[in-house]
Amino acid sequence: MTQLESAHYDKWLTAQAKSRHPSAIRALFPLENNPGMISLLAGKPNPQTFPFENITVTLKPVTPDAPHPKLEINAGADLQEALQYTATCGLPRLHKFVRDFQHHVHGRVAVPGEDDFSVTITNGSQDAFTKACAALIEQGDHVLIESPVYTGAIPEMTIAGAQFVEVECDEQGMSAAKLAHVMENWPENKPRPKLVYTVPTGNNPSGASAGKQRKIDILNLARKYDFLILEDDPYYFLTFDGDRVPSYFALEKELGGVRGRVLRLDSMSKVLSSGLRIGWATGPQKIIEAMDLHTSAANLQPNSTSQAIVQALFKHWGIDGLLEHVSRVADFYRVKRDAFEGAAAKYMSDIATWVTPTAGMFLWLKLDCEDSNDVIKERAIKNGVIALPGNVFYPTPRTTPYTRLSYSMASIEDAEEAFRRLRRTVFEPFHS
Ligand code: PMP
Repeated sequence: MTQLESAHYDKWLTAQAKSRHPSAIRALFPLENNPGMISLLAGKPNPQTFPFENITVTLKPVTPDAPHPKLEINAGADLQEALQYTATCGLPRLHKFVRDFQHHVHGRVAVPGEDDFSVTITNGSQDAFTKACAALIEQGDHVLIESPVYTGAIPEMTIAGAQFVEVECDEQGMSAAKLAHVMENWPENKPRPKLVYTVPTGNNPSGASAGKQRKIDILNLARKYDFLILEDDPYYFLTFDGDRVPSYFALEKELGGVRGRVLRLDSMSKVLSSGLRIGWATGPQKIIEAMDLHTSAANLQPNSTSQAIVQALFKHWGIDGLLEHVSRVADFYRVKRDAFEGAAAKYMSDIATWVTPTAGMFLWLKLDCEDSNDVIKERAIKNGVIALPGNVFYPTPRTTPYTRLSYSMASIEDAEEAFRRLRRTVFEPFHS
C-alpha cells in the first residue's frame, strides 16, 4: 500500500464534514459541457448583461527598459469563465496548471491509484485553512501547534473546538524531540491528536525554517502516531539562503512508505498580490472533497476573475517564468532582511536577541524585558512605531519578552528610525 485507504480518513473528518452533501446544482455543472446539452440548470447571469468588454492587465517590465507585457482576457470563453460561476475547485485551466506546478515543485503526480492527491483553488490560504479546520477539528480534538503559533490560526481552530497542545520551538521551528516527548507521554486513555499545524518556512511569527531532517523526523512521528500534518507554507518561495527545503508534501513521497498524511496550503499572496486572494490546498482526496463541499455551500467558488488573471499570467510565464518571478521576489526580501537586521544590530544588540530568519518576512525579537506587551502595545505606539507583542502568538494569556517585527514594507531609513524609537521606548521607564 502506498496510499492511505480512503476509509482511513473517516476517523479524521468531522461530523460536519461528513454530513455535507454535494450541491444539487454544482454536482451537475460538468454535464453542461456534454455535446448538444441545453442547460436550464443554474441561475447563471447572462453574460450579455455584463458591462465588461475585456480585462487587460499590464505587467511591470522585468528590467526598467524591457517591454511592459499585456495580458488580454478579451472575449469568448476566457472572458466568460472569468466573469461567470465556474467549478467549485477552481477554473479548470488554472487547476491543471497548479497540478502540474505541484508536480514540478514537489514531485507529486495526481494519478488516481498511484499518487492520490487532489487540488483545490481557494480565496487565499486562509480560506483553505478555515475549511481544513472545519473538516478536521471537532469539539475537544487535540491539535499540536507550534509555540508560538501564527496568530491568524488561533480563532478558527478555537471555534472548531481545538484543545491546543503547544510544542516548543527552536531555531528550526517545531522541535521534533519535543513533539516526540509529547507523544511518548500521551496518556493511553486520552484520544490522540489528529493533526499538527505547522508553518515550516519563514515561520510567522518566529521566522524559523525547518531543515530537511527536521521535517523527516516530524513526518516519521506523524506516521508512527498516525496524525495529519497541516503544512501552511505561504513563505515557501521566500527562501533566501540556499535551496528551498523540500516540503512535507514532497518528502512524504521522497521517503517512500504510505502517503496521505500531508495537507499542504500554498498562497500567492506573498509572491503575486495578497488582494487577488489566490491560494490552493493540495492533499488527500477525501479532505479536499470535504473542503470543496464546504466551498460549494459557503461561497460557491474562489473568485474567478482573480483566477482568470492569475491563469493568464501563469500562461504567459509558464512554470519556469513563475519560478523566476518568485526567485526575484525572494531576492527583494533578502535585501530587506539584511538591511533590517543591520539596523536591528545597530540599535538593539545590547537589549535584544534574535535568530536571523532565512526565509519570510519576520524578525522575532526577544527584548531584554519580562513583558513586551506593555512596551510594544502601549508605549511604542505613543512613540510612533507599531509592531506585535509576542503574547498574541499563543492560544492562552501569558507574558512574553518577544515582539514580531515585519520587515516587508519598511525602507532602510524607516527601519533605522523604527529601531531608534523602539530603543527609546525600551529605555523610557528608566530614563523618564
Ligand atoms: N498562513 C500564514 C502563516 C500567514 O502568515 C498568512 C498571511 N499572513 C496566511 C496563512 C494567510 O495568507 P493568505 O493571504 O493566502 O490567505
